[in-house]
Amino acid sequence: MNTLVYCELHQGKFRKSAFEQLSFVKALPGIADVTACFMGETEKAEIEQLSVYGANKAVKIKITDDLYDESTYASALSSLAEKLSAALIILPHSTRGKAIAPRLAVKFRAGYLPGVSGFAASDKGVSFRKKVYSGKVESLFSIHAEKKVLTIANNSFGIKSTGASGEISTEEFKPEISIPFKNTLLGSKKAEGKLLLSDAEVVVSAGRGMKSADNWKPVEELAELLGAATACSRPVSDEGWRPHSEHVGQTGKVVAPNLYIALGISGAIQHIAGISSSKVIVAVNKDPEAPIFQVADYGIVGDLQEVLPKLIEGAKELKKTS
Ligand code: FAD
Repeated sequence: MNTLVYCELHQGKFRKSAFEQLSFVKALPGIADVTACFMGETEKAEIEQLSVYGANKAVKIKITDDLYDESTYASALSSLAEKLSAALIILPHSTRGKAIAPRLAVKFRAGYLPGVSGFAASDKGVSFRKKVYSGKVESLFSIHAEKKVLTIANNSFGIKSTGASGEISTEEFKPEISIPFKNTLLGSKKAEGKLLLSDAEVVVSAGRGMKSADNWKPVEELAELLGAATACSRPVSDEGWRPHSEHVGQTGKVVAPNLYIALGISGAIQHIAGISSSKVIVAVNKDPEAPIFQVADYGIVGDLQEVLPKLIEGAKELKKTS
């Protein structure tokens, strides 16, 4: 089966999800050609990485900025998949991936499953794993369609190098796109130097226990020292203390870092839905009965006013010795 993998770029670099999607495809049984495609500018060395994780070739899709739109992207991917006779298209479970994938499934007349976290192969074929009910249950799905579109949940499968040399042929593809309406990109402003929350290995997150927007400096300092991204609970972003892009949970971003530090977050089920795949959860809360301690691997019962400066001190020490 030929496969097309849509790899997202961020500031000229492939996001970690691209390598995870390729690793996922490479592990599936019955896969023939794997084509990685992308939109945007990047360097040769970066494209070579795609081969290391399993792509047989790379295709750069050329779309002019005035056609920036998820429908356009879906049309482009659909026509490239037709050209390659691909029966499986893989996208990241990112904001953009989630917007493109269902449109693509309709255009490509394919079965669609979002948020896949693994697969199971048997003599009856391949089924796909996915978490449901806010991460409380893992279900197995079989897609009864010849062609399939999947999005892969971040940090669910892991990245596995194939040991390939990195040599890869790269082509350009200029799709002919005709759409009845379009969105025009007028401009964009990059968040300079900020770690992407969905790609971060460490996340320092804080909740209403911080009391006000003015108290966030130590949270940022701890994140900076640990090389972490900052996040928050929903009421914090609803209050305007932090941007909505940092809101984690059922209605916000779903993260799966190696370490999630929750400061003054109660641990409501809607928040846990966004963090339950984290490898290690550390919670600081003054209430020993706070539900966050039921999911935390390590917990500190104490007042943030006292605990946070000590964590910062410890992180500084760690930085000195590492
Ligand atoms: P609180 O519940 O107010 O908890 C603050 C915590 O800080 C408490 O446990 C308290 O003991 C502790 N604390 C206070 N002062 C200190 C101190 N000085 N030192 C140490 N600890 C202290 N929430 C999300 O986060 N993400 C979502 O995606 C989301 N989606 C939702 C969707 C729906 C449909 C609904 C109904 C709700 C949703 N919520 C979501 C809201 C959720 O139910 C909770 O209300 C919210 O997560 C609570 O945020 P919090 O833990 O920051 O605040």
